[in-house]
Amino acid sequence: MARFEILTIFPEFFRGFFEHGVVSRAQKKGLVEIGVHDLRAFTHDRHRTVDDRPFGGGEGMVLKPEPLAEALESLGIGPIGSVGREGVSVILLSAQGRPFTQAVARELAGVERVVLICGRYEGVDERVNTLFCDRELSIGDYVLSGGELGAAVILDATMRLLPGVLGNEASSEFESFGVTDGAINADVEGVPRSQHGAGGLLDYPHYTRPAEFLGARVPDVLVGGDHHAVRLWRREQQLRKTLKNRPDLLATAALSREDEKILDRLRAEPSN
Ligand code: SAM
Repeated sequence: MARFEILTIFPEFFRGFFEHGVVSRAQKKGLVEIGVHDLRAFTHDRHRTVDDRPFGGGEGMVLKPEPLAEALESLGIGPIGSVGREGVSVILLSAQGRPFTQAVARELAGVERVVLICGRYEGVDERVNTLFCDRELSIGDYVLSGGELGAAVILDATMRLLPGVLGNEASSEFESFGVTDGAINADVEGVPRSQHGAGGLLDYPHYTRPAEFLGARVPDVLVGGDHHAVRLWRREQQLRKTLKNRPDLLATAALSREDEKILDRLRAEPSN
C-alpha cells in the first residue's frame, strides 16, 4: 500500500478531487492511503500564523519553516538522512523545481510514502527545502498561486501507475509517454516491439460511436475488423501526433526501423 501525505494551508481544496474516479476507487480498494494535513494545526499563536515577511525586504509573504517542520515531525519524518527516511520522499512543489514528468511519476510509484508540501504566497522558507526535501518539482513553466494543484497532479499521475489501481495492470504502459524500454511486451503476434505500448510516444487518437458525427467519419481501418491493420494505423498516428505536437520526444522514444521510415514519409508531407 502506498501512502501520500499532503501538507497545505487549504485542506478543503482536495475534498472533491479525492471523492471521484480513480483516486476514490484506489482508496476504497485499500491500494492507496492519503493524509491531508492542515499546517495551521501546527501553529501556536492565536491567529494560527503560517507566514511572515521576507528577510531582505520585498513584496509578499513567505511560509514559515516551523509549522512545516512540526507537521513532518508529527508524521515521524525528520530531516534528510535521519532515521526513518528510508522509503520516504519529501517533495516541495515549486515553480523553480525540476519538471515533473511521467518518468518521475514512475520513480515515485516505487516509493512507499510520498509527502507533498504545498507552497503559497511568495513560496516556502528555503530551509524547509534544503533540510527536509529530497525533491523540488514543478508541474510546468508557469506560476500557480499555490502548490495544491501540483500536489493533486503528482498524486494522480503517480497513483495510476500503482499495481491494481487501473484495473487492467497493463493499461498505463499503453498511454502517452508509456515505457520506452524492455518492459514493453515484445513481439505479440509477430508485430515488432515498437508496435506495443506508447514506447515514449504520445498516444494515438481514440474514437467511439457514432461512426459518423457532424459529417466526420471514424477512420475506415477502425471498423474494418483487421486487427493488424489497426495496430499499424495506430502506430503511425502516434508517430504523426508526436512529430506534430512533441517532436522533442522522438529523440528518446523506442523507434524501430519501420517507425523511422514512417517518420521520413511524414516529414516529407507538405504540411511538415
Ligand atoms: N515566488 C515564486 C516564484 O516566482 O517561483 C512563486 C510562488 S507561487 C505564487 C506559490 C506556490 O505555488 C509555490 O510556493 C509553489 O508551491 C506553488 N507553485 C507555483 N507554480 C508552480 C509550478 N509551476 N509547479 C509546482 N508548484 C508551483
